[in-house]
Amino acid sequence: MATEKQTPVENGNGRRAGERISRRKFLVGGAAVGMVAGLGSGAGLARPLSQATGGASVPVGGLVSQDLVLVNGKIYTMDASKRVVSQALIQNGRFTAVGNKVAAPRGVKVVDLKGHVVVPGLIEAHDHIVLVGNRPGRHVLLEDVFTLPEVVKRYQAKAADVPAGEFITTIGPIASMQFPEQRLPNLSELDAVNRPVYINGAQGGVRTNSLGKAWFEPKGVTVSADGTIAAGAAGATGATLALRLLREQFLTAESRKRNSFEALSYYAGLGITTHLDNGAFQSDAPSGGVANENTYTMHNPFLALDAEKRMPARLRINYLHQDPPNDPTLPTLSQRLRNSFPFFGNDWIRSGGIGEFTGGGVNGLRAIAAAGWRAEDHTLNLASFQSLVESREMVHAQIPITNLRWVISHVPQVTPELVNRFKAMGGGLLVGWGPLRTGMDVGPAYRMLFDNGIHLGYHSDGGDITVINPWLNFYTMITGRNLKGDVINAGQTLTRSETLWLATAANKWFIEEDDLGSIEVGNHADVAVLDRDYFTVPEEDIKHVRSILTIVGGKIVNDARVL
Ligand SMILES: [Zn+2]
Repeated sequence: MATEKQTPVENGNGRRAGERISRRKFLVGGAAVGMVAGLGSGAGLARPLSQATGGASVPVGGLVSQDLVLVNGKIYTMDASKRVVSQALIQNGRFTAVGNKVAAPRGVKVVDLKGHVVVPGLIEAHDHIVLVGNRPGRHVLLEDVFTLPEVVKRYQAKAADVPAGEFITTIGPIASMQFPEQRLPNLSELDAVNRPVYINGAQGGVRTNSLGKAWFEPKGVTVSADGTIAAGAAGATGATLALRLLREQFLTAESRKRNSFEALSYYAGLGITTHLDNGAFQSDAPSGGVANENTYTMHNPFLALDAEKRMPARLRINYLHQDPPNDPTLPTLSQRLRNSFPFFGNDWIRSGGIGEFTGGGVNGLRAIAAAGWRAEDHTLNLASFQSLVESREMVHAQIPITNLRWVISHVPQVTPELVNRFKAMGGGLLVGWGPLRTGMDVGPAYRMLFDNGIHLGYHSDGGDITVINPWLNFYTMITGRNLKGDVINAGQTLTRSETLWLATAANKWFIEEDDLGSIEVGNHADVAVLDRDYFTVPEEDIKHVRSILTIVGGKIVNDARVL
């Protein structure tokens, strides 16, 4: 069973062929004692971990896969029986033993988890991390910050690292609801940072400081006295465009790579080890739109990181297409389907399907089905959900999509009847997407959808219009409240365990990979060690959960332990 889960070609972490062979042999051994013998290191070297000596700490060893044994943890495996164990052995980037008394060969580094809760590395099945990686300036993420002084402090800490004249930016995943004042920091507060600052919030407006105002105003961008920039060409669109136009200064290949690395690392610090990116709006030339990029080049920084073997998390890629429904030639989609491969790449970076727009109406869907690709579209209301289900039924009648794992995301409004019709075609739904919403009963109907039995997974959709931080999203799914604390989705909440399951094991189906999302022998060794007990902390504390140790394929990519 375990060997069937092996990926035959591992080219992401420098593993050599000989090591693969020995690991396979090792896995065939089955039981822990036999496994150690299979390593060829001698059965006499096996020792139960309870007797193991060795340091409790693991130095941050760059991004190199290393063999580790985790002990004294509260490890929520999210396997089929939802086992909770205390130990896990990681060798050559995968789990090789999981239980309460695993045997580790001598020399394997021991990591004492000191009773902390461990979860499988979270799978984010739909966000816009690639947009976040391509932001102009020195991009700083603030989704784990909940006071305005903390925002300023983080910017100040970053400023020490930023050359004079370069912008510090936060574009997309930040919201005024994070702060008690229900607003973003203003000009005088941001003036405590000695670099120009530009904040373009997913919610809460757009702000700059005096240095930013002095830079923007000669470029035709109006900035009010408190640093607010309104919407529009003479406002936020113009400001974002002005930054992107100065590519040599604010948007170089190197800066994109740095921001991509920092974004993946930041979210790894919040427990996300796999992102399925869902594209951007295509712009050949620099654009002022927060959701716009050149979708044909925006993956380059991530490909460069992978080539350097520096990916701190896994990236999966959907391709967003928007061909007009009345153009049967499908100018961009037909080229994509003819000239590229789905699920092509390696364990760190790999292509996926078409989404979060398929484009081309029913013609587009038919072409995708004929090519055997996965397809995803989002819906913002009941009318569009109904239309998406109906158009899929039209295609399905001609070309069955049952095995193609077609997805509809966001689904704030559904009816059980429409859900059942999509379920009958083998479809799946992605939910999350809630912490910044306002109103009553804004959906999604988490409880109804969970109990329905349709394939259901977790996504944030964050990066441009909302936040990616999974714990902010989990808070809303568990409490029915937005970040401000208002009840927005009464009677449709999930338990903590159900919520975590959606973002781990349930998301295997959405990324079409069985060896991620649970802590089981043979799976990739992706885990997050949490700073607090997600399962028992007061509900308000769920928002503050972070990972103090994140491991991806045996690589320690985040180590914030206080030793
Ligand atoms: Zn999206």
